[in-house]
Amino acid sequence: MLKRIIFTLLLLLRLINPAFAEVNIVATLPWIGSIVREIGGDKVNITVLVKPNQDPHYIEAKPSMILEASKADMLIYNGLDLEVGYLPLIINSSRNYRIQAGRKENLDCSQYIDAIERPQRDVDRSMGDIHPFGNPHYHLSPENIRKVADGIADTLSELDSAHAEFYRKNLISFYERLDDKQKQWGSKSLKDKKFIAYHKYFEYLASEFGFQIIGYIEQKPGIPPSAGHIERLIETIKNSRPDALITTGYYGKRGVEFLSQKTGIRGVVIPHDVGADDIKDWFTLMDRVLESLE
Ligand SMILES: [Zn+2]
Repeated sequence: MLKRIIFTLLLLLRLINPAFAEVNIVATLPWIGSIVREIGGDKVNITVLVKPNQDPHYIEAKPSMILEASKADMLIYNGLDLEVGYLPLIINSSRNYRIQAGRKENLDCSQYIDAIERPQRDVDRSMGDIHPFGNPHYHLSPENIRKVADGIADTLSELDSAHAEFYRKNLISFYERLDDKQKQWGSKSLKDKKFIAYHKYFEYLASEFGFQIIGYIEQKPGIPPSAGHIERLIETIKNSRPDALITTGYYGKRGVEFLSQKTGIRGVVIPHDVGADDIKDWFTLMDRVLESLE
């Protein structure tokens, strides 16, 4: 009985005074973990669910993920349906009221950005398009990350108000670093380059850095190419001589190798998330992606 009273009192105290020792955060993707680390510093404890070598479109919910989610004070994810295959199941099975949809602790980062390639009409999911709400790969974009970092800082400040000033200071340092980096990145000569890509992964980057993606090896996002599509693509490559055929570390390598052999155009594997090839944070990821493209 006494135990129960103490427990209830502790719970009440926590509800009245939401000051955390450390905010327990579950992030789906490595790049999200990296941005949260920049803003949250040592006031947050971060668990990332997806490994950097995994294809982020096809992740399976595991009991260990559900366990992490059950203990989370906050859940932060990419959105635009990128996690639809596993996250709803994890949220539901966690029985953690804090991270349910509609609550502040359930943070969809895509709310802060303007998604490109939003479908004009309803996409029929049976057609297999894995980008039903527009292109979800907005993390390779300094402009988007600027807004996402602001959204994360805002939400953390609200949920853990005792450390609001700390989060805001970290956001300002993050912006200073980003401003410096953007000056460096702006000097990259990518403007006249054109590429063929395996998947629609680099579109935000292309529009910010002024290069072109003139074709895709996948027929639609998530749909492998048919023989006819490959034939047409070989024609396109021969006629327009792109600078490279690009893909990410987790898939598309064989398609790129095949086309590279057929056409003599170089294939390049671009790191797609933090943690791949020892990439320690989002800034290094952008450095490596831009170096590879250059
Ligand atoms: Zn995708």
